[in-house]
This record gives sequence, structure tokens and C-alpha cells, in this order.
Amino acid sequence: MAVDSAQLIKIINHMAQYIEENKDFLTELDAAIGDADHGINMAKGFKAVSEKISSMEDKDCGTILKTVGMTLVSTVGGASGPLYGTAFMRASQATGTKDKITFEDLPTILDAALEGIKMRGKAQKGEKTIIDSLEPAVKVLKSSSPADLNLLKKAVDAAKDGVEYTKGIIAKKGRASYLGERSIGHQDPGATSCYIMLKAIYDALEN
Ligand code: ADP
Ligand code: MG
Ligand code: MG
Repeated sequence: MAVDSAQLIKIINHMAQYIEENKDFLTELDAAIGDADHGINMAKGFKAVSEKISSMEDKDCGTILKTVGMTLVSTVGGASGPLYGTAFMRASQATGTKDKITFEDLPTILDAALEGIKMRGKAQKGEKTIIDSLEPAVKVLKSSSPADLNLLKKAVDAAKDGVEYTKGIIAKKGRASYLGERSIGHQDPGATSCYIMLKAIYDALEN
């Protein structure tokens, strides 16, 4: 697999589509333990992203990812905007000026995204955040070879398990942390949106 700029734009548009389709679901999850805007925030951000990148086929992959990050930071309100924005900007740095991304690049790029979120949000696994789905996925990608579609599937499954895991734990970061023990029993919106984005990458590559 080698994803060129045109294909990268398609993958990101696929993420935007999944986020839009899950907008109400993500907002409902956030209504239970936050302020009922996660789906709205993310859908608004990804709509702007799709518009921004639509004319970037002649740009390298790093530049496209950087544009995604900057657009998310400037259009997504709330905690998730700066977090996902940083993730894409770190992914951009890890990609550099490449005009193609291969499966071998994927662990490094997603690890950079994870580290960016950890740096910005100061969260670690077990605090009911984006980290709880992203970190297990990155771990799978880094722990085994060959890096291929099969391994990416396993990573997406690990992210899904991570979302399930958030149901049983107490939120320690973000708005949900105000609820303390009352956050138990609810799946985390951010962990869920992250799983949805990873699934979008897989589905776009699989088809
Ligand atoms: P807000 O809480 O400002 O309304 P969103 O609703 O868009 O922002 O996003 C909420 C999600 O952000 C949470 O479900 C959680 O996954 C994620 N989140 C919050 N704080 C952090 C953090 N410090 N690190 C990682 N993820 C976080
Ligand atoms: Mg919210
Ligand atoms: Mg909010």
C-alpha cells in the first residue's frame, strides 16, 4: 500500500463522512457525561477540513495533514479541537514532505499523533479519554509485522475494545471528570470518535 496525496484526501474525507454520520451519536454520548457537543464540534471541524483539502491534490502528504490539524484547531470548539489538531500536526511532522505514505510509515505516524495528544492533554491510559482507544491501536501497530491491512484491522479492533473499556472507568480528564464516579457506565465520546476515525482509515484502504 502506498497512499498518495489524492488517496490521503479520500481517506480524510472518509473520516469526515463517518464523523458526520455519527454526529448525533457522539453528541448523545457527550450529553451523558459532558456538555452534549462532541458530535457537533467534530462534524463542524471535519466539514471545514473537507473543504480546505479538496484542492490540495498537488500538495505533499505532510502539508495536507498539517492543514487538517490547523483547521481542526481553529474550527473545533472544546477540548477535542486542540487535541485532534495537535495529533494531525504531529502526524504531519512525522510524514514530512513525502508524497506517498506506506503501511510501514503508519506506526510511526500514528504514534506521533498519540504522543501529541498526550503532550497537549497530559492524559494517560485509564483516564477515560481519546488515549484509551488510540494507544491500544498504536501498540498493535508497533508490536507486530508486517505492517499491512490485516494488522491495521487488529489495531482498529483494539481501539474498539478500548472504547468498551472506557465504560467501566472513572473520567479523570476533561468535563466528564467533574462527575467522578457517576461517569462510570458511560462510554467516552472522544475515545469513540477516535475509533470511528481509525475505522474510516481501514475502510477507505480496504475498498
Ligand atoms: P468539551 O469537553 O470541551 O466539550 P468535546 O466534547 O469536543 O470537548 O470533547 C470531549 C472529549 O475530549 C472527551 O470525551 C475526551 O475523550 C476528550 N478529552 C478531554 N480532555 C482530554 C485530555 N486531557 N486528553 C485526551 N482527551 C481528552
Ligand atoms: Mg463536549
Ligand atoms: Mg464543549
